[in-house]
Amino acid sequence: MSTDDIRVGAHTSIAKSAGPYDGPANAVHQQVEYGGNCGQIFSHSPQVWQSSYLVNLCTPKDDLREKSLTSMQEEVDAAATLDVPYVNVHLGAHTGAGVEGGLRNAGSVLDDLDVPDGVTVLVESDAGSGTKLGGQFEHLATVADETSLDIAFCLDTAHVWAAGYDISTEAGVEETFTEFDDVVGLDRLAYVHLNDSKHGCGTNKDEHAHIGEGEIGVEGMRAFIRRTAAEGVPMALETPTEDGKSFEWNIERARELYE
Ligand SMILES: [Zn+2]
Repeated sequence: MSTDDIRVGAHTSIAKSAGPYDGPANAVHQQVEYGGNCGQIFSHSPQVWQSSYLVNLCTPKDDLREKSLTSMQEEVDAAATLDVPYVNVHLGAHTGAGVEGGLRNAGSVLDDLDVPDGVTVLVESDAGSGTKLGGQFEHLATVADETSLDIAFCLDTAHVWAAGYDISTEAGVEETFTEFDDVVGLDRLAYVHLNDSKHGCGTNKDEHAHIGEGEIGVEGMRAFIRRTAAEGVPMALETPTEDGKSFEWNIERARELYE
């Protein structure tokens, strides 16, 4: 296999750094520095209220629903302006509405979005802690059924693992892809977040590790990368920046494992 067709990059920042650029141009500049050929950005700071971080599509609370809808609308509009094809979102937590109620709420918010042409909303799989939804593939399939919006999905390897899918072996990765295909449909897999995990399978704990250095390990990460690349799906890293291992290191590692 060659590394020519593998699409891998990092989560980069639009904030001005040491480089000459600011805003989205800085994110692209950083990506090139890391050796990535795709990636993702926060379109605005995750610390503020109007941010995707606090979006909760499953909420039964009217005010939070409105804020989530407004924030998502800003995101899809920003994506259209920047010519970015995908907006990634977590479903959030049902906080008492129940699994079915929460997924219905999410479908209803997605229905109310006015998504510009050329932009697709991606729902990301979740680690599934507390009342957060999206850990089980069935949740993703239900949301797709609940909304008339043509959504697609992003699988985060650390979340899939935390939610109980054993992707630490080649056979486990095959089984997980088969299950995703049966329940959701592989044609709806648009993106992968490539992260190893610091915690065990099924723990619902979401803490990312460097590629091949966590609990998923080398065999599982290698199999997942190869399977994802075979589907032509791009991968973005959200690995930590510790132990002297940068995004650059992790991108290189992903390419090594693919070969
Ligand atoms: Zn992720």
